[in-house]
Amino acid sequence: MTSGATWHAAGNVHTQSAHANLSALQAYSLRLYDGLADEVGQEVGSHVVGGFFLAQTKERMEEFKHLAGKFRSIGLEYELVGPGEIKAKHPLLDVTDLEGGAWDPEEGYVDPYSVTMGLAAGARMRGGAIKLNRRVDGIVRLPSGHWRLTAGEEVFECEIIVNCAGFWAGEVAEMVGARLPITNMEHQYLVTEDIREIEEMDHELPMIRDTDSQYYLRQEGKGLLLGPWELDCRRAWDRLGGRAPWSFGEELFEDDWGRLEEGLAAIFHRVPCLEAAGIKRGVNGAISFSPDGRPMVGPVPGVPGFFVACGFLGGIAQGGGIGLAMSQWILDGESELDLSFIDVARFGDWTTGEFARERAHEILPIRYELIYPGIERRTGRPLKTTPIHCDLLARGAVMGQAYGWERPLWYAPEGVEPKDEPSFQRPNWWEHVGHEAKAMAEGCGLSDISSHGKFRVSGPDAEAFLDRIGSAKCPAKAGKVVLTLMLNGRGGIVGDMTIENAGDGGFFCVGPTLAVAFYQRWMDEHVGGFDARIENVTDGAAVLGVAGPKSRGLLNSLSGGAFDDFPFMTSKVVEIDRVRCKALRVSFSGELGWELHCSMANHKALFDAITVEGGEHGLVLVGSRAMGMLRLEKGYRGWGSELTTEVTPRAAGLERFCSTKKDYIGRAAVDSQRGVTPPKRLVTLEVDPAAPPCWGTEPILKDGRVIGHVTSGGMGWRCGKMLAVGWINGADAVVGADVEVRILEETHGARVAADPVHDPNNAKLLG
Ligand SMILES: Cc1cc2nc3c(=O)[nH]c(=O)nc-3n(C[C@H](O)[C@H](O)[C@H](O)COP(=O)(O)OP(=O)(O)OC[C@H]3O[C@@H](n4cnc5c(N)ncnc54)[C@H](O)[C@@H]3O)c2cc1C
Repeated sequence: MTSGATWHAAGNVHTQSAHANLSALQAYSLRLYDGLADEVGQEVGSHVVGGFFLAQTKERMEEFKHLAGKFRSIGLEYELVGPGEIKAKHPLLDVTDLEGGAWDPEEGYVDPYSVTMGLAAGARMRGGAIKLNRRVDGIVRLPSGHWRLTAGEEVFECEIIVNCAGFWAGEVAEMVGARLPITNMEHQYLVTEDIREIEEMDHELPMIRDTDSQYYLRQEGKGLLLGPWELDCRRAWDRLGGRAPWSFGEELFEDDWGRLEEGLAAIFHRVPCLEAAGIKRGVNGAISFSPDGRPMVGPVPGVPGFFVACGFLGGIAQGGGIGLAMSQWILDGESELDLSFIDVARFGDWTTGEFARERAHEILPIRYELIYPGIERRTGRPLKTTPIHCDLLARGAVMGQAYGWERPLWYAPEGVEPKDEPSFQRPNWWEHVGHEAKAMAEGCGLSDISSHGKFRVSGPDAEAFLDRIGSAKCPAKAGKVVLTLMLNGRGGIVGDMTIENAGDGGFFCVGPTLAVAFYQRWMDEHVGGFDARIENVTDGAAVLGVAGPKSRGLLNSLSGGAFDDFPFMTSKVVEIDRVRCKALRVSFSGELGWELHCSMANHKALFDAITVEGGEHGLVLVGSRAMGMLRLEKGYRGWGSELTTEVTPRAAGLERFCSTKKDYIGRAAVDSQRGVTPPKRLVTLEVDPAAPPCWGTEPILKDGRVIGHVTSGGMGWRCGKMLAVGWINGADAVVGADVEVRILEETHGARVAADPVHDPNNAKLLG
């Protein structure tokens, strides 16, 4: 126990994270560790000293303001402070060049070894058995579905494995045929000799994270512990292809302090008394990176009964909370909090070792980067592209990456540099996105949505299976399309998808890009007992969305009028110019529109035909950011932001998609909530037009008390209103009610709107 990375970790435990639910889990760790000594009767070295995040720029301070809102919305404290307040609590700091900072009173550090031993003692007290010094060297699936693990001569059998093998997690996953995109990187910190100024102090110094200079700093004994993130970073065991030798458990790498020079210079600037301090020791260990720097947890898709909890940059801070979440996942089938942002299913087969390595080298030196809304990564791209990738770039597309796919975020008009300049205020792309949205609503727009997840479900029980996992009745007639929700046993929303009866005994299902592996895992877990086959056809099938009042005219002119007699939520095989495709009359923008599905081989021909003819019909290219804002106005909810396992159809206002005529997973929970005011409800808010945009997590208040938080925000370009969607207390969800939204630490007026804001009678959608 503790061999690997834990024994030598610096032990810092903080709550700050860009993801509210990760902050909540980290706060749980903090409280668990702090109370552990009393619970198990042994010391764990918990020091709750509070901590500052330092801001050297106004932009950084703005990020802290954004985070302060998030903290407030989940009930955590996070106070914005000026340089004077920082100096008062940490007199050794030179604060003259600081803009300010954020104070988290709950932060602290622990002795990771003692905490592990404390947790183990707690586990034993509750009947847990721990076998030490056994290395699992083989894992085999038994015919019963259980696992057999071997450790040398010893054999163990179990139902569920949790792979928490730290920097060996990749190797352990390989034992069951799975691959994890983990990169192990070297990371060093130094501990100084005792410092006179600290010896003379009567209190312990708070923790410091100087985010703009990328280092952490805290008191260790009567000295300091200095942890800079290296610009010139190294993959661990690079000469061994990055694979950790099994013997490395209690070892460290050789110190390489030269690589810390830049970071140390910044620390010495901040703490002038360090100039007289000697360095007592250095620690150079390995730290595991996933491609986005967040942990990887949950059931590994395609390997039932095999969970993972690895890829921790901050495994000490996160360990307690993740332990709680994993236990819920195993015992209840899901975690209480939505953890899709750290779920291992967000990575798929497309995440190669080299992709993961490039990402780790990009992320490590900017560990405390300023996380603007919609920020995109630079490395590991392009990876998955559609045949029209270059055509879209030539038309000014600014690409983002989603589940490995390059997909257009927005289009820069001629004379505008196709490049994101992110901001918490209105970023450089704001008005261009507005132009796309408005032009689509007045004429027609084309979007490349080929990255959407696509499944073909076939076999004798295909319909019965989809009826079991979907809340809406599966379309029995060929050419019919429905929107269904997938719910868990508590009625929590696993996801939503469109199902088309393909007319050949099979069904075609379409869901969000980022949800592909989540949906695949959910379907695989529930297909047992049904004679049905699930095929992920995403990579071979292209999709173009064509929408707007002039879309029918455009498509008719290319198909000899095939789009005239074409009711909403139906499908047809059509020929558009030279290309045969399947058209589905559905719309995410709320305008008259179709999705055109064809093979990737035909994608370019279809795109060329539509764009050449489109000139006559006012066609514009539309990126995912415009679509994201159009859907807000239409009251459509987004997977991962509004649609999560934390909420039910009743709370999300989606009961109309839940059948009362058939059984399905989650039905009992849905039925029990009918007619009942849910504790929280999803609403659209019209926000003060002068306010900065909401990006998510901003607290919603009524009479000064927090009643919920924002999940998505943006401009309603058709109605000309600033919009936000969010959760508020069910009792407060009254149309017309005045509320407030706290954005970047300023309070702005808002009003609960009647949903949807755009086209409430569906005249345009059904037109
Ligand atoms: C220098 C440094 C400083 C750090 N500072 C901090 C910090 O201040 N705060 C923080 O939150 N995080 C910090 N971290 C990160 C933190 O150390 C890790 O995130 C955390 O320790 C990971 O814990 P883990 O349990 O996942 O992995 P490990 O601690 O590596 O544990 C993995 C365990 O799996 C066992 N194992 C592996 N393979 C097998 C097998 N085949 N059979 C049986 N057992 C196996 C190992 O023996 C080991 O016990 C730091 C990391 C480094 C390198």
